[in-house]
Amino acid sequence: MKVNKEWHAALSVIDKIERSGFEAVIVGGAVRDYLLQRKVNDVDVATSALPSEVKEIFSSTVDVGIEHGTVLVLDEGEPIEVTTYRTEGTYSDYRRPEEVAFVRNLEEDLQRRDFTINAMAFTKDGQIIDLYGGNEDIANKVIRAVGDPNVRFREDALRMLRAVRFGAQLGFSIEEGTLKAIQIDSDLIDFIANERISMEMAKLWKSKYAYYGIQLLVESNLSKFLAGHFAEQLENWRTFKADKSEVGWAYLCQLNRQEFQNIVDFYRLSNKEKTYIRKVLNAYDALLQKWTAMDYFINDLDVLETAYDFAGWQNVRLPFKKENIQEVKSNLPLQSISQLAINGNHLMSWTTRKRGPWIKVALDAAIIAVLNGYVKNDEEKLKEWFLNDFINEG
Ligand code: ATP
Ligand code: MG
Repeated sequence: MKVNKEWHAALSVIDKIERSGFEAVIVGGAVRDYLLQRKVNDVDVATSALPSEVKEIFSSTVDVGIEHGTVLVLDEGEPIEVTTYRTEGTYSDYRRPEEVAFVRNLEEDLQRRDFTINAMAFTKDGQIIDLYGGNEDIANKVIRAVGDPNVRFREDALRMLRAVRFGAQLGFSIEEGTLKAIQIDSDLIDFIANERISMEMAKLWKSKYAYYGIQLLVESNLSKFLAGHFAEQLENWRTFKADKSEVGWAYLCQLNRQEFQNIVDFYRLSNKEKTYIRKVLNAYDALLQKWTAMDYFINDLDVLETAYDFAGWQNVRLPFKKENIQEVKSNLPLQSISQLAINGNHLMSWTTRKRGPWIKVALDAAIIAVLNGYVKNDEEKLKEWFLNDFINEG
């Protein structure tokens, strides 16, 4: 089995904790991904040791979430999160509690976890501790709540959206009873902070089975409580594929143009995300008119290719191949403004006019003239163009 540096670092953290007389295991997503032979991301360690005890064992630690029992151990080269076995105490408002209770046994810690596939532990000797049938559910490709799903979703309603998100990432179905519980409790998602909803949706966009995830979103009724019209627009997601979440947000805005503001507000999108979305939407509109040399020039390849993909996902046929975009763009006579053979000083030396806003107007016009092949990007040629065409036409 292929394991990464983090996995080794976690095992050596576990070894040190055990030598001090406590228990420790790898838990959660890392065990799931290990069994699925997927790329393992963060390797989380759970332990019977209290945070203060963990800090005594290691020379270099950071209190990243000590109130929840989490200490970041830096001793092994790779940072490893070590969390004390805990239960989550009482829940209110369908949200995860702020307070947790530390416990000394692993069983209680596994019991608080959301799904059977996320509730397994891996010991130092390579033994899998699987109290809820997680391994079998992995084999059957099923997402199943640990315990009574209605109870678990009322404790923390975000788990409903997590079920959908894991479905999208893994291509697993949601077990019947678990899905029924979501359908019944879907409205409780309103109690969850939009930032947390947004983080799950961002993972859904990048998922291998994103369309299936959106089908689950609709089937589970959750989509009714989210911004966007997923049920009506399901067909437009069929071939959607994104390698970064911004593409998903941009496409959601494309499908819900009139509700752009509502969507970016609801999902609490950042200014950076909003800027990217606007660029892609503008490029898409321009594409429907036919891209000019200027469109190829001002937009990054990624923005152009994403706008191109939008057309495909919406069944809009285009008269050229996606590969052409890169070709056209790299063959432009100018790749950036700094490549223009002239600047404001040239312009001023060619006239008696003083510095002013006209310089930017003239340079923009020069860029357009060069991009359209009207004049070569060459100082002498641009001087001729400036004195004969630009000045004369005002
Ligand atoms: P990812 O690949 O997205 O990191 P993950 O399974 O590691 O997936 P995390 O959100 O990092 O998910 O959480 C780590 C573990 O903590 C989960 O595997 C699960 O056991 C538990 N967990 C996380 N969120 C919840 C929750 N809302 N309710 C119950 N258990 C949870
Ligand atoms: Mg994780």
